[in-house]
Amino acid sequence: MVYSTEGIVLKSTSYGEADLIVTYFTKDYGLINLFAKSPRKIKSRFGSSLEPLTYSRISFVGKEEKLQKIIQSDIIESFQQIRENYKIFLKLSEVLKILIEISPKKEPNVELFKLFLNTLFQIQKKQNPDNYLVFIKVKTLKIMGYFPDFTYCGICRNKLKEEFYYSQGFIVCRQCISDNSYLNKKPLFFPVSRGVVKLFNKMSTWSLVFLERVKITDNLLGEMENFLKNHIMNTIKA
Ligand SMILES: [Zn+2]
Repeated sequence: MVYSTEGIVLKSTSYGEADLIVTYFTKDYGLINLFAKSPRKIKSRFGSSLEPLTYSRISFVGKEEKLQKIIQSDIIESFQQIRENYKIFLKLSEVLKILIEISPKKEPNVELFKLFLNTLFQIQKKQNPDNYLVFIKVKTLKIMGYFPDFTYCGICRNKLKEEFYYSQGFIVCRQCISDNSYLNKKPLFFPVSRGVVKLFNKMSTWSLVFLERVKITDNLLGEMENFLKNHIMNTIKA
């Protein structure tokens, strides 16, 4: 049986001398690892279609429970400009990490697939795509169920009010942070501004079209980036 779908390459790993294992986020099969025979031997169009972020129409064969083999891959969009922009690619690689580490294998999520793809097109078009980079992280965490809880303290479970702190994957209240027993364990924590909390909650409900119409300050985007970096690190580690 031949399977066909559209997919975005998340990563490629060397396998033996000339082969590759390619991790795709696909429209119909979700996260999937596929075997690519000898793409590294010759500089071919097939080989370049296996670069990270490349969006292609792919066909593969093999038993479902085994590592299936790519037999065809036609590039729809290479997203070469994003891949070659180190700063942007680095920020985006956090999204790739989330998808690789926490999406269930072979379970399609068409909503997330479309959102990710459409956001990539926007990122490629924009001179400064920082808001799109933050947006796709917030939305991916939300859709995957790894959104931080901004309502209740992660330690005492009381309702969070004025002040928010972040520690080891949780939003924590002032009381818990000042508690001696907590401080004695010396976990890392840092304050989270109300602006970040507000934007997080709002952004998780926005569409890509809505994002286009909103102006977010560079300061706030920077804060969001830092917060996300920490949260993604903690989430993936867990
Ligand atoms: Zn607390």
